[in-house]
Amino acid sequence: MPSARWSRQPWPNMSSVSEMPVDADRREEFATRLYGWYRTAGRRFPWRGGRSSAYHILVAEMMLRKTDVRKVEGVYTAFIARYPTVQCLARADERELRDSIRLLGIEDRARLMRVTANIIVSEHAGKVPSTYNALVSLPGIGRYSANAVLCFAYRRDTALVDTNIIRILGRVFSVWSQKARPREDMRLWDVAAGLVPAGHGIRHNRALLDLAATTCTPTKPKCAVCSLNELCDYARCPGRERGSAGE
Ligand code: SF4
Repeated sequence: MPSARWSRQPWPNMSSVSEMPVDADRREEFATRLYGWYRTAGRRFPWRGGRSSAYHILVAEMMLRKTDVRKVEGVYTAFIARYPTVQCLARADERELRDSIRLLGIEDRARLMRVTANIIVSEHAGKVPSTYNALVSLPGIGRYSANAVLCFAYRRDTALVDTNIIRILGRVFSVWSQKARPREDMRLWDVAAGLVPAGHGIRHNRALLDLAATTCTPTKPKCAVCSLNELCDYARCPGRERGSAGE
């Protein structure tokens, strides 16, 4: 990786040095190894193409929540062919919309998708918002989805924290949440943000998501072939895994 420059102080909300779990050398080694692996092993999806608009990214994020990514691929492509713009989605017949996402078992999200599209058309001149506050004010859009849109559509160096990334943070750096809902633990969000080098947000987040899906899996992680194994706490000492991996 070209010399990584971090966009902010790594853990802005942490007050004591003892709370900083990852020093600069380790962050840089993590990025170098992760991006080296991603260069050859990263996954390809239709919403990752260079022609994807913010609308496309938003649709993908709404479909990907708690669904099987392999099923989303086909459904997404047909969906975008049928509703190529946010205006088309805002005008969609709700029954047809439900049918178009039924394969994913998320037909109940049809109304939410249409309402969201209508708000974007009527309150944002048909453009998916590019600010965090405007995004989280849309129905069904939380911190993760807002940051995903900001990162993948608007190229901001935002962090993502979900069950999968929580697992990687815990295993590699022994950073675990003690909260009942780790995804809402701001300390984890701060740690994740501190790992994103300036200008590398898209690559960083896609690489983490892909590593979690293919290699650092919930059970039987493939540590023997993982590019991170020499700096990963879990690989060096498997018995140390603890804490909650998510919700
Ligand atoms: S070495 Fe093992 S535990 Fe560590 S990141 Fe890789 S797969 Fe996950």
